[in-house]
Amino acid sequence: MPDTQPYDYILAGGTVIDGSNTPGVKADVGVRGDRVAAVGDLSGAAARERVDVSGLVVAPGFIDSHTHDDNYLLRRRDMTPKISQGVTTVVTGNCGISLAPLAHPAPPAPLDLLDEGGSYKFTRFADYLDALRATPAAVNAACMVGHSTLRAAVMPDLHRPATPTEIDAMRALAEEAMASGAIGVSTGTFYPPAAHATTEEIIEVCRPLATHGGIYATHMRDEGEHIVPALEETFRIGRELDVPVVISHHKLAGQPNFGRSTETLALIERAMAAQDVSLDAYPYVAGSTMLKKDRVLLAGRVVITWCKPFPELTGRELDEVAAERGKSKYDLVDELQPAGAIYFMMDEGDVQRILSFPPTMIGSDGLPHDERPHPRLWGTFPRVLGHYSRDLGLFPLETAVWKMTGLTAAKFGLAGRGQVQPGCYADLTVFDPARIADSASFERPTERAAGIHSVYVNGAPVWREQAFTGQHPGRVLGRGPEA
Ligand SMILES: [Zn+2]
Repeated sequence: MPDTQPYDYILAGGTVIDGSNTPGVKADVGVRGDRVAAVGDLSGAAARERVDVSGLVVAPGFIDSHTHDDNYLLRRRDMTPKISQGVTTVVTGNCGISLAPLAHPAPPAPLDLLDEGGSYKFTRFADYLDALRATPAAVNAACMVGHSTLRAAVMPDLHRPATPTEIDAMRALAEEAMASGAIGVSTGTFYPPAAHATTEEIIEVCRPLATHGGIYATHMRDEGEHIVPALEETFRIGRELDVPVVISHHKLAGQPNFGRSTETLALIERAMAAQDVSLDAYPYVAGSTMLKKDRVLLAGRVVITWCKPFPELTGRELDEVAAERGKSKYDLVDELQPAGAIYFMMDEGDVQRILSFPPTMIGSDGLPHDERPHPRLWGTFPRVLGHYSRDLGLFPLETAVWKMTGLTAAKFGLAGRGQVQPGCYADLTVFDPARIADSASFERPTERAAGIHSVYVNGAPVWREQAFTGQHPGRVLGRGPEA
């Protein structure tokens, strides 16, 4: 029987890059309800609205594989830093940090990166997901539970390995999170609250991943001199649990390690042949996190992104402030706590090699609560499409799109996302391939991207004519086949 029901709208005359890493094709996209109903020549079809997108690309909405948006989703439901660059789904709970399950008036750094005061109030993961569903954001969320959050919930002293009783308690919380809809567990053994966790502790806490089909994501113990043992620990955790592993924001930190991505990518490629391993990266030579007394991080240029005791230092260079105060920047770090910073610590050659590695997904690692954030929060996806794909020719546009859509949906098990195919969810980003660019810079970090025409989430427009439409169609996404 011919399909004669009118479409809600047709995006007409664009080039569809469908998220499968194949070249774009000229086609119309018809949307009905929350789904893509047809892709092809729809010139004669009935539609309530016909949007001329000729000259533009219609792509799956971008999936930000690495975010710290747990609390931002509840507090700033428009999610402008994300929708303005074409992101329609965010993966939360990264680096061992999740907003739940933890009730705490003043959580330790780096958990405070998510806090806006009183934000840690969900003692069960289910309560957090219920809050997201009750007051949805403009984008979808796939949520992980953080191991450092579990430690803070269970352990009176974080600066030691967990006892067997504490491991049991953390595992019970991880089980509750997975049963209520978390897609995985993340760790951040790089950070003080989890630095003393043993590999065995992590394996035992993460046991529920195996029974619930979850994913394990990690900000590894070391991204500098000792990155190889850190990779081996990551692979071992994945093997012992028999679960997929995601290496978060893969990088080589510190000048002595510049160029070593040839070595790490070879190790990752070898591990991929034996087990399920993936990785993501952001397209910048600078990282950002809590202000940390770490010789590798502090060795290069450091810019303060926020500072509780001295808010006037936001945006200042740590070197300058240290000189003014007659101190080494290493000693100054203690005085400025709690605080956050941007660290110029990577090599452009490594960044390009890691981005070009076919299995690398794109994740922003943006810190949405920072006063003067790293520009990755507003610019990651257009920077990959514009600067790295179009301008530098690192990879074709369809590969860039795939790295932020189809690949990510497959790795995180987000059914019906990351593609433009009939039957898929209508998460769509329309952009101008000639104009797309990251406008956010280290000097002006919250500039909106250029070249994003419109963005749709579950069929509903969220971004049109450079503005939020006022709709909040975001959903909590699960992992695995569609229910
Ligand atoms: Zn991290």
